[in-house]
Amino acid sequence: MSATRLDGTLCAAAIRGELTPRVAAFASAHGRAPSLHILLVGDDPASKVYVGAKERAGVETGLHVSVHRMPATSTREAVLGMVYQLNEDATCDGILVQSPLPAALGKKAEQDVFDAINPSKDVDGFHPLNVGLLVQGRATLAACTPSGVIELLERSGIAIAGTRAVVIGRSEIVGKPMALMLLQRDATVTICHSRTKDLPAVTRDADILVSAIGRPGFVTPAMVKAGATVIDVGVSPTSDRQQVASLFGDRSERLASFDKKGSTVVGDVHPGVWDVAGAMTPVPGGVGPLTIALLLKNTLVAAESRAAR
Ligand code: NAP
Repeated sequence: MSATRLDGTLCAAAIRGELTPRVAAFASAHGRAPSLHILLVGDDPASKVYVGAKERAGVETGLHVSVHRMPATSTREAVLGMVYQLNEDATCDGILVQSPLPAALGKKAEQDVFDAINPSKDVDGFHPLNVGLLVQGRATLAACTPSGVIELLERSGIAIAGTRAVVIGRSEIVGKPMALMLLQRDATVTICHSRTKDLPAVTRDADILVSAIGRPGFVTPAMVKAGATVIDVGVSPTSDRQQVASLFGDRSERLASFDKKGSTVVGDVHPGVWDVAGAMTPVPGGVGPLTIALLLKNTLVAAESRAAR
């Protein structure tokens, strides 16, 4: 392994350490802590784990966190009703609706629900108003995962201006906002997706390569320029021993740990890329912890901005 490890856990701890006194200052000025309200609809096991992690991290940082649990059988109107109620609640600073919503609510439900959130409380940064402000380079609340990647790059001293950046994936929550944030910091940005032709030729040009597609080991050493910074946003849980062995090797520590637990999470980037890249994020322990830290930061920023009005 030659690439420098970009440690998201350490970086997230630093961000959270900076937030704690600001959260305390808000609480003493306003007689209440900034508050984050999480809406969890249904019983998706992964969502329960993510919501638990967000709740714990929020409480540790001094935020007030409320989790509103609704059954999987909830109607679209009931979910929207809960969002409207939180919009009106003057003591609620941030609203997060955990994705995915139950499939029974229909394909468009998620967009309708995200669109219903008061933009000043939209701590996920998904509302079209906040996305529009991001496009114009004046967002107050922007998507947490790409914001976390930017924090990690900047705090690790990795220059963005003037570099060639390639983002694989064009989702609304990661790929597109990631590309915009890199562009605003003066990178020359290319976005790749499932219809990109000769993708390795594009990625080999990247000084900064961000992969956000959710395909284990997709980015191979041959796709990476020597010395590039590689950010692995992908998180794919797996219980396939053969897949873990083929990615990490038969005698790897990862396989030994997999054999104890029966599952692991893997990123989009093949472990062989550690020998080619200049700096790289691990999975787990890379981008994931930063996403949560930026959610807490957005909650504080939302509270401060609303209080300043
Ligand atoms: P998504 O909405 O499913 O989007 C995936 C993107 O990848 C799409 O734009 C798709 O292209 C592209 N893609 C799929 N296969 C491809 C291929 N073979 N070649 C090139 N592009 C391909 O996913 P997402 O929500 O952005 O999440 C992506 C990954 O990041 C997932 O593993 C997710 O779990 C992870 N994630 C991690 C965090 C974190 O905090 N660490 C946060 C969010 C997401 P098309 O548009 O052409 O279909």
